[in-house]
Amino acid sequence: MTRPRYSIVAPIYNEEGNIQVLYDRICEVMDSSGGEWELVTVNDGSRDRSLELLEELAAKDSRIKVLNFARNFGHQIAVTAGLDYTSGDAVVIIDADLQDPPELILEMIERWKAGYEVVYAVREERHGESWFKLLTAKVFYRLIYRITDVNIPMDTGDFRLMDRKVVDALQSMREHNRFIRGLTSWIGFKQTGISYVRQARFSGETKYPLRKMVRFAMDAITGFSYFPLQIMIYVSFVLGVLAVLAIPVISVLRVVLGSGFLGGQVTTIVLLLMLSAFQLFFLFIMGQYIARIYDEVRDRPLYVIASEKGFKPQLEDEPNTIPPTPEPEPEARG
Ligand code: UDP
Ligand code: MG
Repeated sequence: MTRPRYSIVAPIYNEEGNIQVLYDRICEVMDSSGGEWELVTVNDGSRDRSLELLEELAAKDSRIKVLNFARNFGHQIAVTAGLDYTSGDAVVIIDADLQDPPELILEMIERWKAGYEVVYAVREERHGESWFKLLTAKVFYRLIYRITDVNIPMDTGDFRLMDRKVVDALQSMREHNRFIRGLTSWIGFKQTGISYVRQARFSGETKYPLRKMVRFAMDAITGFSYFPLQIMIYVSFVLGVLAVLAIPVISVLRVVLGSGFLGGQVTTIVLLLMLSAFQLFFLFIMGQYIARIYDEVRDRPLYVIASEKGFKPQLEDEPNTIPPTPEPEPEARG
């Protein structure tokens, strides 16, 4: 293999206190990686000096690239844009606040060279985060794990290395509400995790207030699960059973407790239960159509091919065995 080329993507939103250290540490790590590298930074509408600092670095070091958003579009969109502009054989996504230690990239590269196409980092411990963040994150990852259709590994963020093939597949998925770690899992390929201790932010504070966290969680759930649409069928079933049972149960209770029990409300109760069950049932049916519409408009690729053989001549490893078709004799005119 010729010298591998690595791209590192870092989304930046008001990270002025972290940029220089991030640069220094990435230089140190990547210079020892034995490959060529570039750092693609995406300034996601920062209101501090982040852009200025990034541009200064880019002026001094041609390996640093700066994409500057017109406003804040959000973390997942910033990462997506960064990926669009990478050219490396392997691409690493990293947070700019140094909660993801750049030193881990070398270990990721080792795994990549061993044949894995996605190497994600699993947070074994998290330092310097509020109990609220820790609790919500824990609940979130477990919920996502249980209700989504794809196997999204627990306690992993976007800190990961991806082979070019995976990045290409990811780029073909242009859905707007993006949950990148879910999309990467959806794509497939050979994936593995390495665990690490997540450090506290080097400088500044989290850019994920509760509002953004809730939105993020909703994107994850709606992007990968139809469970919320399916709940209705269970509720509908329970109400239906109650409606059917209500008639004999109330009749028996009337015999035992006297005919005045519940008075004239019985018909109302039974009708209400039945109607609610019907309505929920048809809402569920509608949900099924909406889910399918959603599948269609999101327009994910139907499948992702990891490799193919036997379709076209593969010059290096497999000479074409079909004899060349002879040139057709030129037809005599006339
Ligand atoms: N970020 C971004 N746009 C946003 C919010 C965050 O580009 O709207 C970047 C941020 O600069 C950082 C990364 O995304 O590099 C992760 O954000 P943060 O550290 O605030 O999230 P946390 O680690 O607290 O979950
Ligand atoms: Mg952070």
